[in-house]
Amino acid sequence: MAGMEETVFHKIIRREIPAEIIYEDAETLAFLDIQPMNPGHTLVVPKKFAKSIFDIDANAFAALMRAAHKLAPVIKDAVGADGINIGMNNSPAAGQVVFYAHVHVMPRFLNDGYELWHGKNYPEGEAAKIAEKIRAKLG
Ligand code: AMP
Repeated sequence: MAGMEETVFHKIIRREIPAEIIYEDAETLAFLDIQPMNPGHTLVVPKKFAKSIFDIDANAFAALMRAAHKLAPVIKDAVGADGINIGMNNSPAAGQVVFYAHVHVMPRFLNDGYELWHGKNYPEGEAAKIAEKIRAKLG
C-alpha cells in the first residue's frame, strides 16, 4: 500500500532488530538514536504507523509530544546536558531519511559546536502577505 513501506523503525517496534529502548507506553516507543548528535539523543515513535506530521493523527502526535515532554528532563539529567532540542524532520526537503514519523529529543551542551538554522529577513511587506495566506487557509 502506498505510504506503508516497511522501515527500520517498524522492525524496532516489533523487536526484530536491536535498539536501546528507554521508554514505552500504550502509544509510543522511545529508543536511542544509533548515530547521536550528542549522547542520549533519543527518537520517539508512534506505535501506529504514520509517515510524518502530514499523516499522523492529532492524538498520536499529542502522545509523541507527551512522551517527549516526559523524557526531556530525564535525559537531560541522565547525560548532564545543559539543554534539549526537540525536532521533527518531515519530508526529504526537511531532512527526513526514515519515513516513519519520529520526534528527536536531542541533548545540548554549552559549546557543543552545533548551530541552529540562520534566520533571514523578509523583504518589505512579505511577512504580512505570508501571514495572510496562512490565515486564509486556516479559515
Ligand atoms: P531523520 O529521518 O532525518 O529525522 O532521522 C532518522 C534518524 O534515525 C537518524 O538520526 C538516524 O541516526 C536514526 N536511525 C536510523 N536507523 C536507526 C536504528 N536502527 N536505530 C536507531 N536510530 C536509527
